[in-house]
Amino acid sequence: MTSENLSTTSTISQNDFSQLNLSEALQSRLVQLGYTQPTPVQQQAIPVVLAGGDLLAGANTGSGKTAAFALPLLQKLAGQRASGGNYVSALVLVPTRELAQQVADSFVSYGATLTPKAKVLAVYGGVSVNTQMLALRGGVDVLVATPGRLLDLLSSNALKLSKLQTLVLDEADRMLNLGFTEELNQILGLLPRNKQTLLFSATFPEEVCELTAALLHKPVEILLQNDEQQTITQRVFTVNRERKTALLAELIKQNAWQQVLVFASAKNSCNRVAQKLAKQGITAEVFHSDKAQGTRTRLLDGFKRGEITVLIATDIAARGIDIDKLPVVINYELPRSPADHMHRIGRSGRAGAAGEAISLISHEDYHHFSVIEKKNKFRLEREQYPGFEADDEAPEDCLSRMEKPMAKPEGSGKKKRKKLPKINEQLWGNKS
Ligand code: AMP
Repeated sequence: MTSENLSTTSTISQNDFSQLNLSEALQSRLVQLGYTQPTPVQQQAIPVVLAGGDLLAGANTGSGKTAAFALPLLQKLAGQRASGGNYVSALVLVPTRELAQQVADSFVSYGATLTPKAKVLAVYGGVSVNTQMLALRGGVDVLVATPGRLLDLLSSNALKLSKLQTLVLDEADRMLNLGFTEELNQILGLLPRNKQTLLFSATFPEEVCELTAALLHKPVEILLQNDEQQTITQRVFTVNRERKTALLAELIKQNAWQQVLVFASAKNSCNRVAQKLAKQGITAEVFHSDKAQGTRTRLLDGFKRGEITVLIATDIAARGIDIDKLPVVINYELPRSPADHMHRIGRSGRAGAAGEAISLISHEDYHHFSVIEKKNKFRLEREQYPGFEADDEAPEDCLSRMEKPMAKPEGSGKKKRKKLPKINEQLWGNKS
């Protein structure tokens, strides 16, 4: 809901952010952006962050959580700009490159009316490390980083974390899910004992609870899950496996959507679906980790601007990515993890806008989809799309496929997910 071009005639006093003790400069920026009301997570988190407390927030992506930590951090850092020596004042750790860039862009946008401006930098893999090293010279106020690139930069002494004031862990569950446990351990061991820690997670599996216990000191807890998903209408169509792409093409043509984000389970299946759609006259772009970072950025920007209508992606696009008013998400193939289902569909229906999520399931998906429903506590009526109805019984060849385990998610091959090692509280700087 970025509304840069909205009229700025509304006054600061009409803006409900005025009750949150944010500076006039930040409030005037919010007026420019057309933010009239804080979202629930902003309402509750901003005072906690301003007061310097630790925070544990269970908030869905799309609920405005970037501003919930960015606004108060910008305010706190406004009085004390980076003082040279490659020091970092606030560190935001995120699981993906695109999210790192997006969060850094949000900091820059929210702080556009501040003087002097905060120095904000995103660092992530796939792009030149030298440029990032140069940009770190003289220190930065806010560093948004993916764990691997941050460790590379730390090992080259390109930055120092010893004066860090605030650590934000965004999408903590996803980071652990992607196998970042070891990297996180190493980074957390380098941080000062006394700091403010803000942890955001959509789900709370055991590993996140361990992280929480080790990292946070008497945190204020805000749990706001599921608000956002109420604005998303979910549907599920049963279809024979070999007719899935034809049904996908039919849905795209019939609905004339301006933007469709289609999720597939693996890189090669993204490519296959795009080729099959091309045969039906539908141009689709493919977004996965085999694409060079420059291409990934170009594709995502093009999709956000509405220049690309159909984007077929793996789960690297499932978390945090903010696409304004994305009307529909299609699950061409289901994610392995039930939590990822909620993250995928959460790309639509953001910031209160209406959204739709359609899952296409064939016989071999029936059981797994029921598990996704059960874990996420929803239940959908199975629908048949006229002309694409699934057979009552699974075909013979499908039965043999049903025996096979599902494809592993992207990135899970190399980094085997490990249980969080026993936490060394001293090392992790737990203040209690
Ligand atoms: P986030 O969850 O931070 O990715 O934010 C999701 C979307 O909501 C982004 O497009 C933000 O620009 C928008 N947004 C965040 N806070 C507000 C607000 N208070 N009013 C209107 N839109 C907002």
